[in-house]
Amino acid sequence: MSQTPELLKCLIIGSGPAAYSAAIYAARADLKPVVIEGPKPGGQLTDTTDVDNYPGYPEGRTGPEMMEDFKKQALRFETDVRSGWVTKVDFTGPVHKLWVDDQTELHAQSVIIATGASAKWLGLPNEKRLRDLGGGVSACAVCDGFFYRGQTVALVGAGDTAAEEATYLAKLCKKVYMLVRRDEFRASRAMVHRVMNTPNIEVLWNTEARDVLGGQAVEGVVVENNKTGEKRTLDVTGLFIAIGHQPATELFKDWLDRDANGYLKHDPDRTSTKVPGVFVAGDCADHVYRQAVTSAGTGCMAALDAERWLAAQGLH
Ligand code: NDP
Repeated sequence: MSQTPELLKCLIIGSGPAAYSAAIYAARADLKPVVIEGPKPGGQLTDTTDVDNYPGYPEGRTGPEMMEDFKKQALRFETDVRSGWVTKVDFTGPVHKLWVDDQTELHAQSVIIATGASAKWLGLPNEKRLRDLGGGVSACAVCDGFFYRGQTVALVGAGDTAAEEATYLAKLCKKVYMLVRRDEFRASRAMVHRVMNTPNIEVLWNTEARDVLGGQAVEGVVVENNKTGEKRTLDVTGLFIAIGHQPATELFKDWLDRDANGYLKHDPDRTSTKVPGVFVAGDCADHVYRQAVTSAGTGCMAALDAERWLAAQGLH
């Protein structure tokens, strides 16, 4: 005997700052939100050690602790947080259909997608170990650059993110080595101009990182010139990786518009998408800012947009 699927007013997919901020607002607006946590409860912040740039935490907080705080706050307003992974969606009808773990079918009048993104890594022998230790391997200059004030660091990448992060780091650090694997940038002309006119950035062309050295913290980066085969060790205390991010949006590709890099598109100045009742928040729809605080902001926006949309449909 097949059961009638549960009908929800507001379903939130994800469990990072965007998802939980959306949940807090939706719960307080009596939308009785259900959060489906996804494959990595807590999202990208669970990979970070100290978060010192989130307002309201004067002493800082570790990423995992901060995500526990977000969750607790959402639970305080009776958000229904469920573990599981949304594996299929069908946005054809007025009621949106979603399947959790390929099994449980849920119906939702509004959906907030906050599935996030993940940084790409190089896969160097010691990269993950030092990253997990908080030992100087990072994919976010804005988050971690502060810890390297006055020091020499290396940064990998040649796109707009890398160019932006290199110039950001150059303001804090004594010197930034920028490792570019080809003999040209991918970044826009304006960003390249800015990099080339920053005296303490040294661009190493045709250069790839081969390993990152250090026991508890970065003590050097082994690089190789891929034209000459020449290897050397850069004397640096930090390694920043800026080779792009992968938004978790594959599931929605048949239903929503995505940009060339896979980020979900939404209406200008709104979190609504081309599917009525489906809203987006956080890094799955933002390749520019990618900060916990901006994600939380768009989560709030998505909940307000969902509430107003439900009210306009006479559903709330
Ligand atoms: P991109 O995909 O544009 O660039 C990735 C860079 O990393 C490329 O230069 C690539 O090299 C390099 N790379 C990839 N893999 C490796 C590897 N294994 N080893 C060494 N280098 C590697 O990603 P971005 O994050 O820079 O940008 C994503 C999008 O966001 C772009 O459309 C960009 O324009 C946009 N953006 C816009 C900003 C703005 O408008 N202010 C700011 C930041 C991003 P190669 O060139 O050789 O392929």
